[in-house]
Amino acid sequence: MTEDTTLPKGLTPDQSRALDLAATAAQTYRETLPQTGARPQVDLDTAVGRFRTPLAEEGIPEAEVIEGILNGAEGALHNMSGPTFFGYVLGGSHPVGVAADFLVSAWGQNAGSAFETPAITGMERAVCDWVIDLLGLPAQSGAGLVTGGSVANMVGIMAGRHALLADQGWDVEEDGLFGAPEIPVLIGADAHSAPFAGLRYAGFGAARATRVATDDQGRIDVAAFEAALEGCAAPPLVILQAGQINTGAFDPFAQIIPLVRARGGWVHVDGAFGLWVAAVPELADRLAGVEGADSWAVDLHKWLNAPFDAGMVIVRDRAPLVASMSARGSYLPDLTAHWEPSDSTPELSRRGRGVPSYAILRNLGRAGLREMVKRHCDLAGYIAGVLAAEPGLRVMNEVHSNQVIVSCDQDAQTMAVLERVQQRGRVYPTHGEWAGQKVIRISLIGYAMQRAHADLVASEIIGAWRWYQEGAP
Ligand SMILES: *Cc1c(COP(=O)(O)O)cnc(C)c1O
Repeated sequence: MTEDTTLPKGLTPDQSRALDLAATAAQTYRETLPQTGARPQVDLDTAVGRFRTPLAEEGIPEAEVIEGILNGAEGALHNMSGPTFFGYVLGGSHPVGVAADFLVSAWGQNAGSAFETPAITGMERAVCDWVIDLLGLPAQSGAGLVTGGSVANMVGIMAGRHALLADQGWDVEEDGLFGAPEIPVLIGADAHSAPFAGLRYAGFGAARATRVATDDQGRIDVAAFEAALEGCAAPPLVILQAGQINTGAFDPFAQIIPLVRARGGWVHVDGAFGLWVAAVPELADRLAGVEGADSWAVDLHKWLNAPFDAGMVIVRDRAPLVASMSARGSYLPDLTAHWEPSDSTPELSRRGRGVPSYAILRNLGRAGLREMVKRHCDLAGYIAGVLAAEPGLRVMNEVHSNQVIVSCDQDAQTMAVLERVQQRGRVYPTHGEWAGQKVIRISLIGYAMQRAHADLVASEIIGAWRWYQEGAP
């Protein structure tokens, strides 16, 4: 590139300083993370009050803006990226992904267009290929990089909606759902809320879906499923789950998927975190048969530890994915010849959200990913063993992957123990509900979690339970 000296430089000194300040603050934050408390010290109202002021008439210099943000965030950030955060099922924003994310923002590429953003497209296509391969899914599948598991589920459901209705001679993209043939929907009773939201967004309605009975680990009961399938008047949309949020369990794919295929139905798998166990040969039996489905939703910001927001929808046959997502509607040129990112996602314009995952996969390699996923599952088993040995605590699940749920005899005890643990601020598990009981849920998923962190969360929970039994002074 030649420099045109008649034009102003790309950055003013203040803009440069703002970038420096942000980079330095980011580094300091992550360097000190393992030593900082698990939860924010500043409450929500206080934090909001710091920022939610009337917008001034006059602007302020860039560096001052960043300083203001850093001051305002002081004590009000949650240590979600650190290895002592066991809440929900959240990845830890791996530093190499964060570094790559800086570049994504700095480069400002609109990744919706392949030919306008060749470098981003190259990295994102690599991520799609690698993830499809790592998960053992059909190599020719179509894929879309979306914001997370919820959108990935919605898109998979919409691709299935397109295909099932097309099979019945109905073009849902042109004619919508009014007057369309009815598509039965089957889903497990212990499915995550996200696919139900996807069903709503796709016009199927959440309550219209048949909720199939599950076993004590939240897996779909095959006999109950067969009965439900028997009652379907048309080829159904079936939603299965890899990784139940509380138990970490997996639906019996090998038994269910062939039944659905024989009926001409569509199987979508919500594998937001659970599909990643495919990376570990010793654990891959949990996913046996999953590659026979039609679409899969997986998060990149969970087990891969990509910075938010990043997820992927994978569809065996790319045509219904593109037909349901492309903004080019029915005037589609030959879409198989050219991989246009915006054809596979709801967004036309978007950031290069696959780039951080490219960086993380390059950094970990196959071996690093395998080691991380296995380590988390091993640690989950270890924690369950330690907690189960404590009188009065009950581990409520078999450990299938990386989730552990534990409870006391009564809900009030469980919640008091959890509150104590969270208040002490050394680790942060969160709550859930299982089998009609409140539970403390411990999710092992942050890239930096090691045995010492597992020991800490177990001892904090046991310590809080003993404190409670001594009368909780
Ligand atoms: C997290 C999760 C989702 C939703 O994913 P988001 O990335 O939070 O949108 C869906 N299903 C399961 C099983 C999950 O764990």
